[in-house]
Amino acid sequence: MSDLPGTIEIREVGPRDGLQSEEPVDPSVRVEFVDRLAAAGLREIEAASFVSPKAVPSMAGGDLVMAGIDRERGPRWWGLVPNLRGAEAALAAQVDALTVTVSACPVYNERNIRRTIAESVVGIADIVEAAAGSVVDVVISCVFGSPYTGDEPTGTVPELMAQLAAVGVTRFTLADTTGMATPARIDRVLHRTGVDVGLHLHDTRGTALVNAWTAMQLGVTRFDTAAGGLGGSPFANGAGGNLATEDLVHLCDDAGIDTGVDLGALVEAARSLEAVIGRPVPGRIATHGPRSAAPAV
Ligand code: ZN
Repeated sequence: MSDLPGTIEIREVGPRDGLQSEEPVDPSVRVEFVDRLAAAGLREIEAASFVSPKAVPSMAGGDLVMAGIDRERGPRWWGLVPNLRGAEAALAAQVDALTVTVSACPVYNERNIRRTIAESVVGIADIVEAAAGSVVDVVISCVFGSPYTGDEPTGTVPELMAQLAAVGVTRFTLADTTGMATPARIDRVLHRTGVDVGLHLHDTRGTALVNAWTAMQLGVTRFDTAAGGLGGSPFANGAGGNLATEDLVHLCDDAGIDTGVDLGALVEAARSLEAVIGRPVPGRIATHGPRSAAPAV
Protein backbone atom coordinates (compact mmCIF):
# COMPACT_ATOMS: atom_id res chain seq x y z
CA MET A 1 0.00 0.00 0.00
CA SER A 2 3.02 2.26 -0.50
CA ASP A 3 1.19 4.28 -3.12
CA LEU A 4 -1.37 5.57 -0.61
CA PRO A 5 -1.01 9.18 0.59
CA GLY A 6 0.40 9.84 4.08
CA THR A 7 -2.25 12.40 4.81
CA ILE A 8 -5.59 13.49 3.36
CA GLU A 9 -7.77 16.56 3.73
CA ILE A 10 -11.38 15.92 4.68
CA ARG A 11 -13.95 18.65 4.14
CA GLU A 12 -16.87 17.89 6.42
CA VAL A 13 -20.12 18.74 4.60
CA GLY A 14 -22.59 17.29 7.13
CA PRO A 15 -23.89 20.65 8.37
CA ARG A 16 -24.73 21.56 4.75
CA ASP A 17 -25.14 18.51 2.47
CA GLY A 18 -26.06 16.27 5.41
CA LEU A 19 -28.81 18.43 6.85
CA GLN A 20 -30.15 20.11 3.72
CA SER A 21 -32.47 17.22 2.87
CA GLU A 22 -33.78 16.95 6.45
CA GLU A 23 -36.57 18.92 8.08
CA PRO A 24 -35.23 22.35 9.08
CA VAL A 25 -32.99 22.23 12.15
CA ASP A 26 -32.68 25.33 14.30
CA PRO A 27 -29.44 27.25 13.62
CA SER A 28 -28.43 26.95 17.29
CA VAL A 29 -28.57 23.15 17.03
CA ARG A 30 -26.55 23.29 13.80
CA VAL A 31 -23.98 25.42 15.66
CA GLU A 32 -23.66 22.74 18.36
CA PHE A 33 -23.10 20.09 15.68
CA VAL A 34 -20.50 22.22 13.89
CA ASP A 35 -18.63 22.90 17.15
CA ARG A 36 -18.52 19.16 17.89
CA LEU A 37 -17.09 18.49 14.43
CA ALA A 38 -14.41 21.14 14.92
CA ALA A 39 -13.58 19.71 18.36
CA ALA A 40 -13.17 16.27 16.73
CA GLY A 41 -10.34 17.73 14.65
CA LEU A 42 -11.92 18.44 11.30
CA ARG A 43 -9.90 21.16 9.60
CA GLU A 44 -12.30 22.03 6.78
CA ILE A 45 -16.02 22.38 7.49
CA GLU A 46 -18.81 23.43 5.13
CA ALA A 47 -20.96 24.99 7.82
CA ALA A 48 -23.75 26.65 5.86
CA SER A 49 -25.19 27.47 2.49
CA PHE A 50 -26.43 30.81 1.29
CA VAL A 51 -29.22 29.71 -0.99
CA SER A 52 -32.74 31.13 -1.02
CA PRO A 53 -34.62 29.86 2.06
CA LYS A 54 -37.62 29.43 -0.23
CA ALA A 55 -35.69 26.98 -2.38
CA VAL A 56 -34.04 25.12 0.51
CA PRO A 57 -35.85 25.90 3.80
CA SER A 58 -33.56 23.61 5.80
CA MET A 59 -30.59 25.86 5.09
CA ALA A 60 -32.20 29.11 6.26
CA GLY A 61 -30.15 31.06 8.79
CA GLY A 62 -26.67 30.36 7.42
CA ASP A 63 -25.60 33.75 8.76
CA LEU A 64 -26.82 32.75 12.24
CA VAL A 65 -24.82 29.52 12.07
CA MET A 66 -21.69 31.42 11.08
CA ALA A 67 -22.28 33.99 13.84
CA GLY A 68 -22.73 31.26 16.45
CA ILE A 69 -19.79 28.96 15.80
CA ASP A 70 -16.70 28.98 17.94
CA ARG A 71 -14.28 30.56 15.48
CA GLU A 72 -11.30 30.13 17.77
CA ARG A 73 -11.09 26.46 16.92
CA GLY A 74 -9.44 27.23 13.63
CA PRO A 75 -10.90 25.11 10.82
CA ARG A 76 -11.36 26.75 7.46
CA TRP A 77 -15.09 27.56 7.25
CA TRP A 78 -16.77 26.95 3.90
CA GLY A 79 -20.12 28.16 2.62
CA LEU A 80 -22.01 26.95 -0.44
CA VAL A 81 -23.22 29.76 -2.66
CA PRO A 82 -25.47 29.57 -5.74
CA ASN A 83 -24.78 33.01 -7.19
CA LEU A 84 -23.22 36.41 -6.62
CA ARG A 85 -25.86 37.41 -4.10
CA GLY A 86 -25.19 34.26 -2.09
CA ALA A 87 -21.45 34.88 -2.29
CA GLU A 88 -21.86 38.40 -0.94
CA ALA A 89 -24.03 37.09 1.92
CA ALA A 90 -21.48 34.37 2.71
CA LEU A 91 -18.56 36.79 2.74
CA ALA A 92 -20.55 39.20 4.93
CA ALA A 93 -21.12 36.28 7.33
CA GLN A 94 -17.34 35.77 7.48
CA VAL A 95 -17.15 32.52 5.60
CA ASP A 96 -13.48 31.80 4.74
CA ALA A 97 -13.97 29.96 1.46
CA LEU A 98 -16.76 29.38 -1.03
CA THR A 99 -18.10 26.34 -2.82
CA VAL A 100 -20.19 26.83 -5.93
CA THR A 101 -21.67 24.11 -8.10
CA VAL A 102 -22.04 23.60 -11.81
CA SER A 103 -23.08 20.35 -13.41
CA ALA A 104 -21.15 18.42 -16.02
CA CYS A 105 -24.58 17.36 -17.31
CA PRO A 106 -26.33 20.14 -19.28
CA VAL A 107 -29.79 18.75 -18.52
CA TYR A 108 -29.11 18.62 -14.77
CA ASN A 109 -27.69 22.14 -14.86
CA GLU A 110 -30.68 23.60 -16.69
CA ARG A 111 -33.27 21.80 -14.58
CA ASN A 112 -31.68 22.36 -11.18
CA ILE A 113 -29.53 25.45 -11.45
CA ARG A 114 -31.81 26.95 -14.13
CA ARG A 115 -28.91 28.08 -16.26
CA THR A 116 -26.99 26.72 -19.18
CA ILE A 117 -23.50 25.56 -18.32
CA ALA A 118 -22.11 28.60 -20.19
CA GLU A 119 -24.29 30.90 -18.06
CA SER A 120 -23.02 29.15 -14.93
CA VAL A 121 -19.41 29.76 -15.99
CA VAL A 122 -20.17 33.48 -16.32
CA GLY A 123 -21.83 33.49 -12.89
CA ILE A 124 -18.84 31.72 -11.35
CA ALA A 125 -16.49 34.32 -12.86
CA ASP A 126 -18.49 37.01 -11.01
CA ILE A 127 -18.22 35.04 -7.77
CA VAL A 128 -14.45 34.63 -8.16
CA GLU A 129 -14.15 38.38 -8.64
CA ALA A 130 -16.35 39.15 -5.61
CA ALA A 131 -14.39 36.68 -3.49
CA ALA A 132 -11.33 38.92 -3.93
CA GLY A 133 -8.76 36.27 -3.18
CA SER A 134 -10.82 34.00 -0.90
CA VAL A 135 -10.69 30.43 -2.16
CA VAL A 136 -13.50 29.41 -4.51
CA ASP A 137 -13.88 25.66 -5.04
CA VAL A 138 -16.07 24.71 -7.98
CA VAL A 139 -17.91 21.47 -7.28
CA ILE A 140 -18.77 19.84 -10.60
CA SER A 141 -21.80 17.61 -10.17
CA CYS A 142 -22.78 14.46 -12.06
CA VAL A 143 -19.18 13.85 -13.20
CA PHE A 144 -19.54 10.07 -12.93
CA GLY A 145 -23.07 9.78 -14.25
CA SER A 146 -26.22 11.84 -14.56
CA PRO A 147 -29.71 10.91 -13.39
CA TYR A 148 -31.01 12.40 -16.67
CA THR A 149 -28.67 10.99 -19.26
CA GLY A 150 -27.46 7.90 -17.45
CA ASP A 151 -23.83 7.77 -18.33
CA GLU A 152 -20.99 10.08 -17.35
CA PRO A 153 -20.82 13.22 -19.54
CA THR A 154 -17.89 11.89 -21.53
CA GLY A 155 -15.30 14.33 -22.69
CA THR A 156 -16.77 17.48 -21.20
CA VAL A 157 -15.26 17.64 -17.72
CA PRO A 158 -11.65 18.59 -18.57
CA GLU A 159 -12.97 21.22 -21.00
CA LEU A 160 -15.28 22.65 -18.35
CA MET A 161 -12.37 22.76 -15.88
CA ALA A 162 -10.27 24.61 -18.48
CA GLN A 163 -13.06 27.17 -19.05
CA LEU A 164 -13.37 27.71 -15.30
CA ALA A 165 -9.60 27.97 -14.85
CA ALA A 166 -9.64 30.68 -17.52
CA VAL A 167 -11.97 32.77 -15.33
CA GLY A 168 -9.75 32.35 -12.26
CA VAL A 169 -10.93 29.14 -10.60
CA THR A 170 -8.01 27.35 -8.96
CA ARG A 171 -9.69 24.51 -7.12
CA PHE A 172 -12.08 21.80 -8.28
CA THR A 173 -14.10 19.04 -6.69
CA LEU A 174 -15.65 16.26 -8.76
CA ALA A 175 -19.01 15.16 -7.39
CA ASP A 176 -20.80 11.86 -7.74
CA THR A 177 -24.13 13.48 -6.99
CA THR A 178 -26.32 10.40 -7.28
CA GLY A 179 -23.83 7.66 -6.43
CA MET A 180 -23.14 6.37 -9.94
CA ALA A 181 -19.34 6.12 -9.64
CA THR A 182 -17.47 2.83 -9.49
CA PRO A 183 -13.72 2.27 -9.16
CA ALA A 184 -13.45 1.75 -12.94
CA ARG A 185 -15.13 5.11 -13.57
CA ILE A 186 -13.08 6.87 -10.88
CA ASP A 187 -9.94 5.56 -12.60
CA ARG A 188 -11.12 6.60 -16.06
CA VAL A 189 -12.23 10.12 -15.10
CA LEU A 190 -9.14 10.86 -12.97
CA HIS A 191 -6.88 9.88 -15.82
CA ARG A 192 -8.51 12.67 -17.82
CA THR A 193 -8.76 15.35 -15.13
CA GLY A 194 -5.59 14.64 -13.16
CA VAL A 195 -5.61 13.95 -9.44
CA ASP A 196 -5.32 17.53 -8.14
CA VAL A 197 -9.06 17.52 -7.45
CA GLY A 198 -11.32 16.85 -4.51
CA LEU A 199 -13.90 14.09 -4.63
CA HIS A 200 -17.45 14.44 -3.32
CA LEU A 201 -18.88 10.94 -3.12
CA HIS A 202 -22.37 9.67 -2.37
CA ASP A 203 -23.08 6.13 -1.25
CA THR A 204 -26.39 5.55 -3.04
CA ARG A 205 -25.18 2.22 -4.46
CA GLY A 206 -22.70 1.27 -1.74
CA THR A 207 -19.59 2.23 -3.71
CA ALA A 208 -18.49 5.44 -1.96
CA LEU A 209 -15.79 3.96 0.27
CA VAL A 210 -14.26 1.75 -2.40
CA ASN A 211 -14.31 4.74 -4.75
CA ALA A 212 -12.42 6.81 -2.16
CA TRP A 213 -9.89 4.01 -1.68
CA THR A 214 -9.35 3.76 -5.43
CA ALA A 215 -8.91 7.53 -5.68
CA MET A 216 -6.38 7.58 -2.82
CA GLN A 217 -4.35 4.89 -4.58
CA LEU A 218 -4.32 7.12 -7.66
CA GLY A 219 -3.12 10.10 -5.60
CA VAL A 220 -6.25 12.07 -4.66
CA THR A 221 -5.90 13.67 -1.22
CA ARG A 222 -9.09 15.73 -0.82
CA PHE A 223 -12.52 14.34 0.06
CA ASP A 224 -15.94 15.74 0.99
CA THR A 225 -17.74 13.59 3.54
CA ALA A 226 -20.66 13.99 5.96
CA ALA A 227 -20.75 12.82 9.56
CA GLY A 228 -23.22 9.97 9.95
CA GLY A 229 -23.51 9.53 6.18
CA LEU A 230 -26.53 11.79 5.90
CA GLY A 231 -27.31 13.78 2.83
CA GLY A 232 -28.34 13.89 -0.74
CA SER A 233 -29.31 16.77 -2.92
CA PRO A 234 -32.95 17.82 -2.62
CA PHE A 235 -32.74 18.44 -6.40
CA ALA A 236 -31.35 15.05 -7.43
CA ASN A 237 -33.78 12.18 -7.70
CA GLY A 238 -32.43 9.08 -6.04
CA ALA A 239 -29.54 10.78 -4.27
CA GLY A 240 -28.35 8.71 -1.30
CA GLY A 241 -26.27 9.84 1.63
CA ASN A 242 -22.76 11.19 1.49
CA LEU A 243 -19.78 9.01 2.22
CA ALA A 244 -19.77 8.96 6.04
CA THR A 245 -16.83 10.90 7.48
CA GLU A 246 -16.28 8.37 10.25
CA ASP A 247 -16.24 5.48 7.76
CA LEU A 248 -13.43 7.15 5.79
CA VAL A 249 -11.51 8.12 8.96
CA HIS A 250 -11.79 4.54 10.26
CA LEU A 251 -10.38 3.18 7.00
CA CYS A 252 -7.57 5.76 6.97
CA ASP A 253 -6.64 5.23 10.63
CA ASP A 254 -6.06 1.54 9.97
CA ALA A 255 -4.05 2.26 6.80
CA GLY A 256 -1.80 4.81 8.52
CA ILE A 257 -3.25 7.76 6.57
CA ASP A 258 -3.44 10.89 8.73
CA THR A 259 -6.77 12.75 8.74
CA GLY A 260 -6.25 14.81 11.89
CA VAL A 261 -9.59 13.55 13.19
CA ASP A 262 -10.30 11.86 16.54
CA LEU A 263 -12.52 8.96 15.48
CA GLY A 264 -14.20 8.55 18.87
CA ALA A 265 -15.16 12.22 19.08
CA LEU A 266 -16.35 12.15 15.48
CA VAL A 267 -18.58 9.11 16.10
CA GLU A 268 -20.11 10.94 19.05
CA ALA A 269 -20.75 13.99 16.86
CA ALA A 270 -22.36 11.80 14.19
CA ARG A 271 -24.54 10.01 16.73
CA SER A 272 -25.62 13.31 18.27
CA LEU A 273 -27.58 13.83 15.05
CA GLU A 274 -29.88 10.92 15.84
CA ALA A 275 -31.75 12.97 18.45
CA VAL A 276 -31.96 15.83 15.94
CA ILE A 277 -33.35 13.85 13.01
CA GLY A 278 -35.27 11.28 15.04
CA ARG A 279 -33.78 8.17 13.46
CA PRO A 280 -30.44 6.34 13.34
CA VAL A 281 -27.77 7.72 11.01
CA PRO A 282 -26.83 5.37 8.14
CA GLY A 283 -23.03 5.41 8.57
CA ARG A 284 -21.54 1.97 9.33
CA ILE A 285 -18.99 3.03 11.93
CA ALA A 286 -21.50 5.26 13.73
CA THR A 287 -23.82 2.24 13.80
CA HIS A 288 -21.39 -0.57 14.68
CA GLY A 289 -18.42 1.25 16.22
CA PRO A 290 -14.77 1.11 15.08
CA ARG A 291 -13.18 -2.32 14.67
CA SER A 292 -10.81 -1.53 17.53
CA ALA A 293 -13.82 -1.15 19.81
CA ALA A 294 -15.52 -4.38 18.67
CA PRO A 295 -16.43 -6.57 21.67
CA ALA A 296 -14.90 -10.06 21.71
CA VAL A 297 -17.38 -12.87 20.98
ZN1 ZN B 1 -23.49 15.98 -2.11
